[in-house]
Amino acid sequence: MSFPRSDLRDLAPYAQDPTPVDLDLSDNTNLWGPHPAALQALAESAASVARYPTAYGDAVRAAVAARFGVPMDCVTTGCGSDDLIDAAFRGLAAPGEALAYLAPTFSMVEHAALTNSLERRPYLVDYAGGGALPAPEAVLEGAPALVYLCTPNNPTGTGLPAPWVDALLDRVATLAEAPIVLIDEAYAHFTDQSWLERAPGHGRLLVLRTMSKAYGLAGLRVGFGVAAPAVLLELNKARGPFKVGRSAEAAAAAALADGSSWLDEIIHETLLNRARLDAELRSRGWAPLPSEANFVLIPVAEPLWSEVADRLARGRIGVRAVRFPDGSRWMRLTVGPWPWMERLLAELGEAP
Ligand code: PMP
Repeated sequence: MSFPRSDLRDLAPYAQDPTPVDLDLSDNTNLWGPHPAALQALAESAASVARYPTAYGDAVRAAVAARFGVPMDCVTTGCGSDDLIDAAFRGLAAPGEALAYLAPTFSMVEHAALTNSLERRPYLVDYAGGGALPAPEAVLEGAPALVYLCTPNNPTGTGLPAPWVDALLDRVATLAEAPIVLIDEAYAHFTDQSWLERAPGHGRLLVLRTMSKAYGLAGLRVGFGVAAPAVLLELNKARGPFKVGRSAEAAAAAALADGSSWLDEIIHETLLNRARLDAELRSRGWAPLPSEANFVLIPVAEPLWSEVADRLARGRIGVRAVRFPDGSRWMRLTVGPWPWMERLLAELGEAP
């Protein structure tokens, strides 16, 4: 292979919108701010950063084990869950092997599949037309090495039905050559479904979580994964050591160990505001997809798209532009404090 890699020719590095905004509703972070226990731990840990952190984020691993009642050797960490997706794609599949996933989904998944030379096998879901899913067995056809599922899904906000996921996991457990199934639970706090506790005993299931969303720690870059030790052994070979910085490790561990009601209150308010935003959008003629996450996705067709985007930019509100594989255009809006949502609704106006 020569430089530059021909298979990456059309791949652009991740681009961040540089436009300054007052209200950033573009990346599904916690708009109420960071977890207070993390802030205190950050301040206390600052003096020790001349030293390396633990190689695999042991303080976070221990806090996850205690919080979820799973063995510590079933937990690993990463520099955000982005890093864990990347390490999993590299460590749990060989170049040329297939990754099956429902599309559209989290954009970094296709990116990491390309950079890790995996064959991409998307199963398109028609979210605008009701979101019917392929049968779980269909996703397993052709023996993919990996299956990536995101629930609630980014960018749609929709959740996968638990019986569908359970059927897929049950089927995988019976296969002689079984894929590893990744379930990305970045937004699990905003729904009532999780497969995290099933992961240690399944043997082929890796559940990914992030500290970037509900906990409000996106800037620290901490994610964690839960799986059987044999899965994590392979993942950790690709991950490499020292991915979570020393202060990030202390802060994330403190947030996970915190027994206060802070997280529950944030989740409660997010869910209230999500329902309220959904209702207000509908009353103005917009058609959000049913969300189980801390954001909503609305279809905004051209030429309305440019008009709405201009209005939001003038109001200094940042949102995420989303384009589906069929070319349709959508806008993703993070749910935040109600005064922010009111400002958003005022700038969005009525759908024609
Ligand atoms: N998974 C999903 C579904 C996401 O939406 C995101 C963030 N946008 C991530 C993973 C990555 O999160 P982080 O790297 O900040 O942990």
